[in-house]
Amino acid sequence: MSVAATIECPICAGAVGLPADVMLGELLECDDCGSELEVAAVSPTPSVREAPLSAEDWGQ
Ligand SMILES: [Zn+2]
Repeated sequence: MSVAATIECPICAGAVGLPADVMLGELLECDDCGSELEVAAVSPTPSVREAPLSAEDWGQ
């Protein structure tokens, strides 16, 4: 699959662009509400959740 998809923002239910090469843990930003979203799963069904707000502890 090389076509970029969208996923529903868990905060505002808006459509968030999902890169074709999206990776687990990648951070996306919702264009509608500006929330940072963390990719929680990529397969078989991509899902995102609201990213932790701690800017100092990103882990890896
Ligand atoms: Zn949103």
